[in-house]
Amino acid sequence: MSFLKNQSRDFILLDRDGTINIEHHYLSDPDQLKLFPDTGKALYRLKVMGFGLIVITNQSGVYLGYLNLAKIRNIHNRLQSLLKNEGVYLDDIYFCPHGSKENCTCRKPRTGMIDQAVAEHKFDPHRSFMIGDKAVDIDLGNAVGATSILLRTGWGIKTEREGKCVPSVIVNNLTDAVNWIEQRYEKLYE
Ligand SMILES: [Mg+2]
Ligand SMILES: [Zn+2]
Repeated sequence: MSFLKNQSRDFILLDRDGTINIEHHYLSDPDQLKLFPDTGKALYRLKVMGFGLIVITNQSGVYLGYLNLAKIRNIHNRLQSLLKNEGVYLDDIYFCPHGSKENCTCRKPRTGMIDQAVAEHKFDPHRSFMIGDKAVDIDLGNAVGATSILLRTGWGIKTEREGKCVPSVIVNNLTDAVNWIEQRYEKLYE
């Protein structure tokens, strides 16, 4: 059995806090995780369109001491189980546990997490979309050649106002991001 042509899927790369769940100061407990009302439906539509879904999140709370790896695992199990109710499964969740002063290669906007995701899930970052609410998300998306989408949820309005990053598009929320992807996807890559 051989696969002569790479039939890999395209991927949506998602920030977590302020993008798929409501921003919560120092989120450290699964009970604090609340999806936006439209998250499940929006991600489900992406799945139906054939995309893989991967979360890319900075979690410096580990470095700062209010999070540990067990807590992150619990939070991400909770995230998967909330999404499962909506028929959605995240293909993977990558997190950077480091602080800004640790000079790791994975903290957004550095590309380490996406480099690892590309190696493990075999997709083309140039055909991917990076969705987030902060400049680091947009800078990261641009750095790997993805189409970057800034949401006005979470810190997004502040990010837009600061004007320090150059997203491909700015939209109100995840649903509008999916609408935009749906309209552009075929055209972008035909
Ligand atoms: Mg965020
Ligand atoms: Zn890191």
